Amino acid sequence: MQNDKQEKEKNDKDMIKITFPDKSVREYEAGVTGLQIAESISPRLAQDVLACGVNGETTELNRPINEDCEFVLYKWDDDEGKHAFWHTSAHLMAEALQELWPGTQFGIGPAIENGFYYDVMPPEGVTLSDANFPEIEKKMQELVQRKETLVRKMVAKDEAMAFFAERGQTYKNELIADLEDGHISTYTQGNFTDLCRGPHLVSTEKIKAVKVLSLAAAYWRGDATRPMMTRLYGITFPKKKMLDEYLVKLEEAKKRDHRKIGKEMELFMFSERVGKGLPIWLPKGTSVRIMLQDFLRKIQKRYGYQEVITPHIGSKQLYVTSGHYAHYGKDSFRPITTPEEGEEYMLKPMNCPHHCEIYAQQPRSYKDLPLRIAEFGTVYRYEQSGELHGLTRVRSFTQDDAHLFCRPDQVKEEFKRVMDIIFIVFKALDFPEYEAQISLRDPNDKEKYIGSDEVWAEAEQAIVDACKEKGLKTTVEYGEAAFYGPKLDFMIKDALGRRWQLGTIQVDYNLPERFQLEYTGSDNEKHRPVMIHRAPFGSLERFIAVLIEHTAGQFPLWLLPEQVAILPISEKFNDYANEVCNYLNAHDVRTVVDDRNEKIGRKVRDNELKRIPYMLIVGEKEANESTVSVRKKGEGDLGAMKMSDFANKINEEVRSMTENF
Ligand SMILES: [Zn+2]
Ligand SMILES: [Zn+2]
Repeated sequence: MQNDKQEKEKNDKDMIKITFPDKSVREYEAGVTGLQIAESISPRLAQDVLACGVNGETTELNRPINEDCEFVLYKWDDDEGKHAFWHTSAHLMAEALQELWPGTQFGIGPAIENGFYYDVMPPEGVTLSDANFPEIEKKMQELVQRKETLVRKMVAKDEAMAFFAERGQTYKNELIADLEDGHISTYTQGNFTDLCRGPHLVSTEKIKAVKVLSLAAAYWRGDATRPMMTRLYGITFPKKKMLDEYLVKLEEAKKRDHRKIGKEMELFMFSERVGKGLPIWLPKGTSVRIMLQDFLRKIQKRYGYQEVITPHIGSKQLYVTSGHYAHYGKDSFRPITTPEEGEEYMLKPMNCPHHCEIYAQQPRSYKDLPLRIAEFGTVYRYEQSGELHGLTRVRSFTQDDAHLFCRPDQVKEEFKRVMDIIFIVFKALDFPEYEAQISLRDPNDKEKYIGSDEVWAEAEQAIVDACKEKGLKTTVEYGEAAFYGPKLDFMIKDALGRRWQLGTIQVDYNLPERFQLEYTGSDNEKHRPVMIHRAPFGSLERFIAVLIEHTAGQFPLWLLPEQVAILPISEKFNDYANEVCNYLNAHDVRTVVDDRNEKIGRKVRDNELKRIPYMLIVGEKEANESTVSVRKKGEGDLGAMKMSDFANKINEEVRSMTENF
């Protein structure tokens, strides 16, 4: 009996069907590996593949496949391929550290967007610094020569605990304690074994170029009461040339760092005394913000938005109702209490609850919808001080927020209208390359989402159709939707090819429910409106940071706080310079005079650093002839011009940029 059964199982397992992304199907013997499948297609492909996907799960190329599956091969250009590559590289770096400094303890070592890191605790008496990077790199390269295979092993929980305890890896044991028995795996290459879920490369030999980039202090598990570990960042590539190119790009990125350029342009500052992560906008930065707001205001008005202003705090009960207290309350800024009554208020983490109250203040009919409420609303969220970064990770920021309350049948049209606004923004600020991600429900787990099946299906279809009708390039991610609704996220590519998430459109069934929002339908019955959150910039802080890094501070002319600097060649011509300056400002050309007692070359350099594109040099000749000598960034000398001709030129340049919005 038993033999028959085994025989039958064996026969059933003999051949399996592999379905490729193009839906073609090939049969292979059960137990075939991803690498063998790649080899069966082409040897070249087998050289290039790094990992594979089996029924949506990324896995190693040497793992046997025993059942019919949807199958995909990942190369370097796929995020999954890079991820496996860099994740394996984190193990390689750990292996190097273990050889160089035995007794090093390891925390976690994930792949990140560009490379990987490992949190480590060097043994007593060892402190890692930049000076150690070359020897770590050398050791990694030496280990690569050993062409070690990563061997996966499933281990029982107590066995794993014993294994890592014996090696003094207390952090690993803490991680294991949280894992479920039966789901624990280790990977070993050479003498190094790590607790890991994978996936990895089959072997370290594909890692041809390594660079340890930086180090930082990081609390174990991000908890300030736990030990401080050393976080080592690195990056690796399958080709030496790719590393060289990356390092050039990294240099350029450093030059474009918005914190550095923001200082040079005098846009914003931070003050420890005011508080960490709280940006202070200087006059020129404020001017940029106001221009961006006015730009968006003008478009929003055209698209039927009404602007509101709501307070920076709200009663705790408001956020309990909205559910934000559960999300932001405990782990964020704590409530503020009034001295007499003991009322509790919170710094506003989101504008939405306030806007729900605006919707609810009067009865709404189906004919009133959509209602579009916009606010440049400043919100406050706690971020750990170690996570703060310039304007991109802050504790206070201003969203270009709006909430659209509409009927379910209006979702598609509203999405299309928001997309129009986002396209205008990207065009005006010169982001030619962007794509979008549609986040939908996990079709296999519909339980965890609120809202009925029909409304979800309708909204998801509306988003997909809206994108199609707008010709937008999208990817669809299942299971990435929030529990309260599907969404569309925009991703721009900056001048260095880095991707930034800007702009979100999010459907929400939850808040209308929690606030009991209603409208009277044409059937005279009460219905729930659908709420859509949207922010084309995301936040002004983040958007300006991205814009600085994308343009290296060379903002489009219409957005510059200072478009023209007048440089008198000596003090004798300061009066004439001021006359020109007044004339230009009176003609809408934002102009300043640099009347410092400095050499002209120095003045040119300093004003270039402030990213002022036009410089007008004035001396004896110009003063006598009522002209200015024009110098433009990137174009050099443009010759002498009458003041009025120059003003017309600038106004025309700005007009041609802004006529479409
Ligand atoms: Zn791993
Ligand atoms: Zn919102």
